[in-house]
Amino acid sequence: MATFDPATHIQKLRHFGEFGGVNPSITDSSTYTFLHGDDMFETFLGHTQGCFLYSRHWNPSNKYLADALAAMEDTESAWVTASGMAAITCALLQLCNTGDHIVTSVTTYGGTFAFLKNYLKKFQIDVSFVNISNLESVEAAVQKNTKVIYTESVTNPLLQVSDIPKLAEIAKRHGVKLMVDNTFTPMIMAPARLGADIVVYSMTKFINGKNDCVAGAICGTDQFIHELSNVNDGTAMLLGPVLDPLRSSSILKNIHTLHLRMKQHSKNAQYLSEKLEESNIPVNYPGLKSHPQHKLHSQLMNPEFGYGGMLSIDTETVQKANALMQKMQEQDVGYLAVSLGYFKTLFSCSGTSTSSEVPEDVQREIGLSGGLIRFSVGLDSDIASTSETILQICKAEGLVKMAKVHR
Ligand code: PLP
Repeated sequence: MATFDPATHIQKLRHFGEFGGVNPSITDSSTYTFLHGDDMFETFLGHTQGCFLYSRHWNPSNKYLADALAAMEDTESAWVTASGMAAITCALLQLCNTGDHIVTSVTTYGGTFAFLKNYLKKFQIDVSFVNISNLESVEAAVQKNTKVIYTESVTNPLLQVSDIPKLAEIAKRHGVKLMVDNTFTPMIMAPARLGADIVVYSMTKFINGKNDCVAGAICGTDQFIHELSNVNDGTAMLLGPVLDPLRSSSILKNIHTLHLRMKQHSKNAQYLSEKLEESNIPVNYPGLKSHPQHKLHSQLMNPEFGYGGMLSIDTETVQKANALMQKMQEQDVGYLAVSLGYFKTLFSCSGTSTSSEVPEDVQREIGLSGGLIRFSVGLDSDIASTSETILQICKAEGLVKMAKVHR
């Protein structure tokens, strides 16, 4: 496959504001005037290009951001939403009707798991949860009524790497759509180029990178985005999780520094994970040779962006995890907080936070230890001293003695 440079695709965008502003103007209007009544009807029918109707449908500021995302993903089109969950739920509900079926990775973000496991029951949409690395079990789970295979490029929080090209082959063989959440690995992975039909994001995380808002995106074909926004039966149009244009415009500015941030997140996470591993602390990071899918990640990635900013360590119990996290916060390693992709390091105990929707027996079955601390490694300019502090705390908490590597 030809190399793909998402950063240059974004760099080349030319969006000017009124009066020649270097940033596009923010459109803070919910509705738009028409000179002729006929034009309005044609726009409702979706027949007019470049006309805006009502901001729940399209807004110029949202369109600029959507264009940037489509450029980054190399998809025909994109749509931006008020949260990552809105992107995931709208895309799935657009693809599935009552009586349909979804095959999903059992390890996904807890909110996604809860939607698939608990919420879709209302619509009699069935879901099979599989180990996404076991391609035979993925294929065996596909049924006549399956509409979607769903996964995350690098799963939350187990950091399992999805073999997107192989999953795409399975999806194509059975005429179903492959939908991939690329929240952990923007620019690092290009799921649509690897064969995914639809790519979704929580832009709340790395893409925005500032933790000042919640937002999401759906990237796909022109046809799919038109379907989502259809005034008669488009899920995004009718459920209405529209992103505020003020937020769109600030995310658009932040996306222009995403390539630099991803490189630094990855560089720091690689450094920290190596130091943790050298000290025999059970660490999981796709950039380590000890990671079970290190080779696969290396084959799929855009190498210049590294292996991402997410890693985890296993402290075995939630009590140990809490003690360690409190010390790390006190000693300025970062913040004890959920979410990720921030310029400061964030850490949380997944089993009791962002994966608490996953029942405990399922957590144990998939290898999610109660003491797993997920780190979103920040943009520290002196990662050596941050690592040293973390190692000192791990030593003081007795973690260095544990030599087992957990996944
Ligand atoms: N996808 C992943 C991988 C996530 O980690 C999250 C949130 O943590 C979401 C989706 C949901 O995104 P949001 O909180 O923006 O709705």
